[in-house]
Amino acid sequence: MPDAVAARARLRADCTRCAGLCCVAPAFAASADFAIDKPAGHACPNLRDDDRCAIHAQLRERGFPGCTVFDCFGAGQQTVQVTFAGAPHWRDSPAQAASVFAAFGVQRLLHELLWYLTEALALDAAAPLHRDLAAVHERTARLTTAGPDELAAVDADAIQAEAGALLLSVSELARAGVRPRAGGRRRADRRNADLAGADLRRVDLRGVSLRGALLIGADLRGADLHLTDLLGTDLRGADVRGTDLSGALFLTRRQVAGARGDATTLLPAGLEHPAPWGAA
Ligand code: SF4
Repeated sequence: MPDAVAARARLRADCTRCAGLCCVAPAFAASADFAIDKPAGHACPNLRDDDRCAIHAQLRERGFPGCTVFDCFGAGQQTVQVTFAGAPHWRDSPAQAASVFAAFGVQRLLHELLWYLTEALALDAAAPLHRDLAAVHERTARLTTAGPDELAAVDADAIQAEAGALLLSVSELARAGVRPRAGGRRRADRRNADLAGADLRRVDLRGVSLRGALLIGADLRGADLHLTDLLGTDLRGADVRGTDLSGALFLTRRQVAGARGDATTLLPAGLEHPAPWGAA
């Protein structure tokens, strides 16, 4: 079984080895997350010439909370240091800039898939799928070392579909072993459900799929999310104070950063409490 915690530690953004790619490549729409509209491929006006953010310490106060929860899964430094060998000329070469931003987009997808595949490989319940998972993981990891041309030719949709189907099967295998509490009923699948603002404190969510569900501002205080599938679940502003997320499936740093927890919130190994939550 791979050391998932160590493997995931390598899927962490290192902005000191990047070149501000997340502040240039994606488009922003003015919203609660971003104070401005910004087209893709244009540098945010807050990005300094040294590729650092001029308002890093006041992102929320200045209307950019979306920047505090963004996570490239380490794709930024991989694009800069490996794909472009430490010299991505996005500032002085418009021709190369397009290639850099396209490569970053593919790398980010690949790195996020590696995050989920690494977790799946560490799940005992997913043992029947380990061979297939390992093959997709190996192929995905190899692609992250490719050059710009090979990355440009990657069929991202196909890779995502293949990995996505496997991860769905992993989720079903893992969740199948969770039994309802005594006297409780079989829990309904809440995939893609709109649960924004819902009071879920007394709902048995163990083993439930909340994939793609909207839990914005939901109240999950004290809930147990053991083997709850949270792949793509929107947890922005969800109250997870005292919530046990330690056994949740496919939780990411971005989701944790967007939720409202505290020192009593339990997280899976390898995920740290955000500073505003206080020490665990
Ligand atoms: S506000 Fe700062 S962190 Fe956010 S995109 Fe602009 S430069 Fe980057």
